[in-house]
Amino acid sequence: MKKIQMVDLMTQYQQIKTEVDAALMNVIENAQFINGPDVQLFQKELEEYLGVKHVIPCANGTDALQIALMALDLKPGDEVITPSFTYIATTEVMALLGLKPIFVEVDMDTFCIDPATIEAAITVKTKAIVPVHLYGQAANMDAIMKIAKEHNLFVVEDNAQAIGSDYYHNDGSVSKTGTIGDIGCTSFFPSKNLGCYGDGGAICTNNDELAAKMRMIANHGQSQRYYHDVVGCNSRLDTIQAAILRIKLPRLDAYIAARRKVADHYDAFFAAFPQIKTPVRGKESLHVFHQYTMQLTGIDRDALVSFLATKEVPSMIYYPVPAHRQKMFSAFGSASTVLPVTDALTSCVMSLPIHTEMEQEQLDFICASVAEFITTHS
Ligand SMILES: *Cc1c(COP(=O)(O)O)cnc(C)c1O
Repeated sequence: MKKIQMVDLMTQYQQIKTEVDAALMNVIENAQFINGPDVQLFQKELEEYLGVKHVIPCANGTDALQIALMALDLKPGDEVITPSFTYIATTEVMALLGLKPIFVEVDMDTFCIDPATIEAAITVKTKAIVPVHLYGQAANMDAIMKIAKEHNLFVVEDNAQAIGSDYYHNDGSVSKTGTIGDIGCTSFFPSKNLGCYGDGGAICTNNDELAAKMRMIANHGQSQRYYHDVVGCNSRLDTIQAAILRIKLPRLDAYIAARRKVADHYDAFFAAFPQIKTPVRGKESLHVFHQYTMQLTGIDRDALVSFLATKEVPSMIYYPVPAHRQKMFSAFGSASTVLPVTDALTSCVMSLPIHTEMEQEQLDFICASVAEFITTHS
């Protein structure tokens, strides 16, 4: 059996090697490493795929979030409501820009921001909400957009883990995640559902004004060359990365289907174990399973992780420390925020390997190994 990995980027590459190698050689031979033709072509192709007016490619998902927040003209001390149960990038950029992250609770089933707790956290200083579509499943965007409209707040979606997911609105219409709020941000980090071979990211919006502004911010605040109107940054998607993404974008839906198949198998197998709560699939969106994250009860998580490691089955805890308890935010005194669901989840979640090239033999071995631990330890 092939060695099991959380993500198997090598096997995926082998299947597109001919195309990728040719595209890379093409970029190198043309030597347009910055803003080469593949960057504009990828931008257009992603706009088409997402059904969104503007895509602004940038250097990584963290920059995407930072540029999005920079474009909103917020003032130091303005508050941004966000879940604590997320990857640090979501909230780090807020502190970096002098904004105050206000950490709220997530839903126990979907792991995404709980709209009811957003309402309760709104103050006169609140300017924006940043929901995170965690593990590949969308937050309840209809409820979030309604709250945002009522209180005149911006919504910036952190879509780094859910690119390609469909959101099913209450009125029957369908949107791609990341295109519902004022701005959507995504990452092409290699292990993401649409990953390149290094760092990469993108911002999208249907708002012309915000798009122009974000394009300018990502390019040193330039309106024309050497005329800098606002303080910006230098955030570009390399031509080489764009060329790779152009090969992978047409395969994204197939990649998602492959991930969902793995999830289906895990769901069916673990249904027999009351100690395991398999991921709940909310009816609001198509779960694209960036991660397969279970909740454990009555199981020693550390012992299970170590047991699996002895069988060379990797597993991960996303995330062991919620943002509000990170030292980084000690100046905000956020550790005293009462978030019982978030705290409970950080101590019971566990993610199993899931990727686009998982073999049945590997899947069976992972399931059997988890089952062996449970039957011998309870
Ligand atoms: C990966 C990720 C990011 C950051 O993306 P990078 O490209 O690594 O900067 C932001 N938010 C979430 C939820 C992520 O998973």
